[in-house]
Amino acid sequence: VRDGQEDFFLIDGELSLFVVADGMGGHRGGATASHLAVDTLQRLARAQVEESPLTSAWFAQAVQQANDEVVAQATADATLKGMGTTLCALAVVQGDGYEALGVVNVGDSRLYIYKDGELDQITEDHSLVATLERQGRLTRAEAAVHPQRNIVTRALGIDAKVMVDSWEIAPVVGDRYLLCSDGLFNEIDDARIAATLRRLADPNDAARELVRLANEAGGRDNITCVIVDVVEDAGKVAAAGGNRILSTVHGADRVLAELRESGEIPVVSVDDDSADETAKVRRRSRFTWRVALFVVVFLAIVAAAIGTIIYTGTSSYYVGFEGDTVAIYQGKPGGVLWIDPELTERTQISRDDVPANVLGDVEAGKELGSLDEARQYVANLEDQIAAQQPRPTPSPGPGASSPSTSSTDTTATTATTAPAQL
Ligand code: MG
Repeated sequence: VRDGQEDFFLIDGELSLFVVADGMGGHRGGATASHLAVDTLQRLARAQVEESPLTSAWFAQAVQQANDEVVAQATADATLKGMGTTLCALAVVQGDGYEALGVVNVGDSRLYIYKDGELDQITEDHSLVATLERQGRLTRAEAAVHPQRNIVTRALGIDAKVMVDSWEIAPVVGDRYLLCSDGLFNEIDDARIAATLRRLADPNDAARELVRLANEAGGRDNITCVIVDVVEDAGKVAAAGGNRILSTVHGADRVLAELRESGEIPVVSVDDDSADETAKVRRRSRFTWRVALFVVVFLAIVAAAIGTIIYTGTSSYYVGFEGDTVAIYQGKPGGVLWIDPELTERTQISRDDVPANVLGDVEAGKELGSLDEARQYVANLEDQIAAQQPRPTPSPGPGASSPSTSSTDTTATTATTAPAQL
């Protein structure tokens, strides 16, 4: 329906490489960016397979290089300034002793898996509405019709470095993958996509039908669908066990890339073979860094959690009963996990003296922010008890200007009304 075509795609059976890219930045810019990114990825893949099989690490690195190309062109040609593109790609990659489906994604094009009648989105959208949805500020339904749903938060061609999400998935015969641009899912919902993938066994028929349905629904954007059926897995899946997704890296490449640049992690050369001792050392060093980073973050989280519990369990005070006597405790009534409240001060007030209106509070443990406030509360209790005695008492002096207003006010009110009650 729409004039101009800024989407671009690749189906390369020889390389087992499948790509969808959705360009932006004016008609010429958008089309240039998506073509350039896809062509670069294909060119790099062709050169790579001459040396050794594609790997996930290579895949993410190749997307970085495609980014470099788009940035370079946008900088060199003033008429292409501001162009960018999404990129979502699937390829057969070689793991350590297994074959997998490698996935890379930048932007809001999507990869879905259709399996056992269920449709699941594998990639995460890098878009404004997806961010708002993750923050709980929009529902999925609201995001689907949001006027700013075409704003992406990540794309190729914007910065010198791009964060690339990547996955490895075990290929299983019968699984069907759908790569598509937002022109599809902004027009028809997941249920209709799933129904079409279920109904039409031929991938070409299914792709055409999806595009037709999206055009029928309005076709306000370019629509691209690439369907990949897994027809053979050569029995390599068994080794992967029940784990469908073998690995996920969310944007960690950027961090790694920066560490590599600063010399803290040596570059893992893509053509190293396993017989090369240097390559082994390099691999191990990178692995160790990842583990070390994980351990540090994990310990920090555990320490923060323990700190929070200890703080919660000890930072406040409460006034409660020790047997039949009122006492001040440090901690929370009943304790927090392993931290029991600690007796801080005993008072002379016995259970029978505690006024009926606050008996329940003290019974449950009256919580107060500090030891001073707890002492103030006890002082007010004493005043209140004194006020209830038959003999007249002076006005409740202490605590009149205390910040713990709630207990002071209650006491003052009770003190003045108590003689009337008697
Ligand atoms: Mg689009």
